[in-house]
Amino acid sequence: MSQNPDSSDYAIAARGVRKIYAGTKKSPPKEALRGIDLMIPRGSIFGLLGPNGAGKSTFINILAGLVRKSEGAVSVWGFDIDKNPRQSRAAIGIVPQEINMDVFFTPKEALEIQAGLYGVARKNRRTMEILDALGLADKADAYVRQLSGGMKRRLLIAKAMVHSPPILVLDEPTAGVDIELRKQMWEYVLELHEAGVTIVLTTHYLEEAQELCDQIAIIHEGDVVACEPTEKLIASLDRKTLMVTPVAEIAAAPDLSPYQAELTADGRLAIPYQPSKAQVAEILEHVSAAGIGVKDLSTDEADLEDVFLELTYKTTKKTA
Ligand code: ADP
Repeated sequence: MSQNPDSSDYAIAARGVRKIYAGTKKSPPKEALRGIDLMIPRGSIFGLLGPNGAGKSTFINILAGLVRKSEGAVSVWGFDIDKNPRQSRAAIGIVPQEINMDVFFTPKEALEIQAGLYGVARKNRRTMEILDALGLADKADAYVRQLSGGMKRRLLIAKAMVHSPPILVLDEPTAGVDIELRKQMWEYVLELHEAGVTIVLTTHYLEEAQELCDQIAIIHEGDVVACEPTEKLIASLDRKTLMVTPVAEIAAAPDLSPYQAELTADGRLAIPYQPSKAQVAEILEHVSAAGIGVKDLSTDEADLEDVFLELTYKTTKKTA
């Protein structure tokens, strides 16, 4: 394993990171991260994808200096988090999961206080510029409690940006957020990305990761089970589904062995196959031999959900 490659090319470089939470009387120690390697390129929109309990927040909290890792090395924007904690923390802005803000301040005040916490000198503060970038300029002097849910979320992003970090980390940013608001949020985040900010987001929404991220790491039970460009990850799955609309309604899925057909709720047959091994024409011969006329055909590509299921299934089997 490479111990000391040049971390400065990466926004985040993590090697062999392990985290064991100490146990209590009631619960045994928990190995939340099992020695993961994760290299997040500068300028990317990087998705950290995994089910609940996979270890995503633990990793983010290590980056933020909120959780102490048990083993391994991490650098943020080239700064080792142990040797240069101040610089590494300054390179990252973290948008927390929960909206937990003092409702008696105005957005302007909230940003000024945050800038103070980060030691940003008054002359270097960009309060109005940030509020403007996040569509909150006209609410600068309103009380936070008067803001809509969406505005509060944007204010959280604004707060994470006061010290102009080159990396913005969003921890489950859209959990429980409606679609409209989600879209709006992503517009702002993508603008920041276009301005050069590296974006890291944790999510358990496959669709979100697939749509937004150019690279995705899948974390499962404390291990990184995949880390690749999104398209490659999806292409790596040798699976498609042939969808057949029968001429006449059918009551049950026919036996097409070796293929397995399923009858969908809208009366179509879904037949999964491996494009590298099977030809559609051959599957259709089976359909025809079963006495089913074909009215229409389509194929569905595998998506991230399939990749995810496949990978997590494999590792679950391996560790079982
Ligand atoms: P995720 O963010 O992917 O949902 P977490 O990093 O929160 O996952 O949790 C990973 C594992 O570590 C889970 O099994 C969780 O119960 C455990 N864990 C998280 N925080 C603590 C803690 N402070 N003490 C003990 N166990 C923890």
